[in-house]
Amino acid sequence: MKQPEVSIVIPVYNEEANLPELLRRTLAVCHQMKPSCEIILVDDGSEDSSMEMILAAAEEHPGEIVGVILSTNFGQHAAVTAGLEVSQGKYVVTMDADLQNPPEEIPKLVEKLEEGYDVVGTIRENRQDTFFRKTASRMVNFMVRKLCRGRTMSDYGCMLRGYARPVVNAVLQCKEQGKFIPMLAMSYGRRVTEIPVKHAERSAGTSKYNCWKLIALQYDLLTGTSTFPLRMLTFLGFVIALFGILFGIVIFILSQVDKDWGAEGVFALFAIVIILMGGQFAGMGLLGEYIGKIHLNARGRPQYFIEKIAGRVPDPEKSRK
Ligand code: UDP
Ligand code: MG
Repeated sequence: MKQPEVSIVIPVYNEEANLPELLRRTLAVCHQMKPSCEIILVDDGSEDSSMEMILAAAEEHPGEIVGVILSTNFGQHAAVTAGLEVSQGKYVVTMDADLQNPPEEIPKLVEKLEEGYDVVGTIRENRQDTFFRKTASRMVNFMVRKLCRGRTMSDYGCMLRGYARPVVNAVLQCKEQGKFIPMLAMSYGRRVTEIPVKHAERSAGTSKYNCWKLIALQYDLLTGTSTFPLRMLTFLGFVIALFGILFGIVIFILSQVDKDWGAEGVFALFAIVIILMGGQFAGMGLLGEYIGKIHLNARGRPQYFIEKIAGRVPDPEKSRK
């Protein structure tokens, strides 16, 4: 069987109402496109009949639809990672199963990837989501942009994205838990671009993210990518200690001017307590910095990723073996 050129990775969690239309439309797009495609449906431990539907579809269209069944619910990003692992295409497009991103936009992404871009992001034109979901998404985007420093994209929430094979391999080499693929891909891609795509309302079913899940995601993102909060703690500690020292000086001056002032040293005690408190915060932050370093090392993310080596003459001795 010929290796597909484009892999379309779709995480599926309780999407039985969307699957038939999703498959129909995505298959139609695949048949229209010049490069050969495979559709990888990753069942993320669905409790409805999604899994059976995926298996049936894979049987009906072997080679074209690939079903990946996870043992239980691991979350959207873990499911996408599993899909990336299985994907064979030179280019990979990720997409949601709820048809909020029309599959008809896939050729546009593939075109950009063929032009030589490593990461193709998308901007949702007139986004169809609830106010709450939009606000949450805006917060995530803001934070990711701040964490990325330098090169960044305007919309990280839209999962209709395209990646070239070297970037997919780089992302797969990052073995850490709870990774945020769009951001990770950004840090390994050389040429990145963004294109506008249409956005629709969820065609059926409800969003799999509630308020709590979104907060958890945001928290994961922050603690997983940055030790900035720890540094803030150290900074806060120093500010508090400084305030304590200034307070002490003021108390000392006032008590020299008016001997009765100062409530017999109670205020001075306050100042000392504040200084100690600041010191404690600063110490905790410092300790945290070391834990942060351990965290970064334990994560074991590759420090660089070699895309290609040029000019090396292969050793005939080695290649014979
Ligand atoms: N999803 C998943 N596992 C989960 C939650 C969601 O695989 O634990 C999938 C879901 O089936 C959908 C995509 O991730 O294909 C995005 O989910 P959803 O549309 O509910 O998120 P939203 O559009 O609200 O961001
Ligand atoms: Mg959705």
